[in-house]
Amino acid sequence: MNIWMWISIPLFTLAVAVIVVEYIYPWRNSRSPTPIPLSHEHLRHTINECLAQQNASEIVIFEFASKKNKYANAFADGMFKKKIYFSDYFLHELTCEEVKAILVHEICHLKNYHLFVQMLMLIMPIPVGLFAVQITYSVVAAIEIMGFHLTSPLYFTVILIFLILIIPICYLTFYLNLLKLHERHADEYVIKSGINPDVLISALTKLHNLNDEPKSLSKLEEKFSTHPSLENRIKYINEFAKSMVK
Ligand SMILES: [Zn+2]
Repeated sequence: MNIWMWISIPLFTLAVAVIVVEYIYPWRNSRSPTPIPLSHEHLRHTINECLAQQNASEIVIFEFASKKNKYANAFADGMFKKKIYFSDYFLHELTCEEVKAILVHEICHLKNYHLFVQMLMLIMPIPVGLFAVQITYSVVAAIEIMGFHLTSPLYFTVILIFLILIIPICYLTFYLNLLKLHERHADEYVIKSGINPDVLISALTKLHNLNDEPKSLSKLEEKFSTHPSLENRIKYINEFAKSMVK
């Protein structure tokens, strides 16, 4: 692989991550149900005030219809044109203060480019894999020149098992831990912003209840989940709030 390949592959990877977060996610999120500007005037006022307090007035807020299928959620997309979406079922069921707590959580994801980092980490195995194959090939070739035969069926099988099974599982665990770390970071940011931790806990509990999600998960389920369980999240929020008081 020449020098241009070593430079262009990481640049291409960065560009793909930007394109996905800035264009593909918003395109997917703009499809049915189509998001519209916030319809509730009082809430719109509260949210605009909160965005200004957070120095995040550039973020555009949308709502989308979800009352029919009773789906309560909030999420964000974009790197330069930042957007936050709330389902109308969510806005209908949560108090103004609870909506604000979730809004600040989403602002943290956007301000810290969590989506971009997550996308980068998701596609990173492709260039890293290419480099790893190239380096492994060079190392094996160098060792064989020294008189050792690494291309025997036994070595080949061991390397194959390692590549196919162990590396992807380790990487998946790392990636899911990163997602959970971002969730904890966003919850910490809400508390640091001065929002009452009980309000955040109540908002998260309502979200779980409205979507019929389990409160706790087994250790294995939690390991392979994108978000911490509500039980652990509440525990962490309370511990963090206590550490802030000290
Ligand atoms: Zn989040």
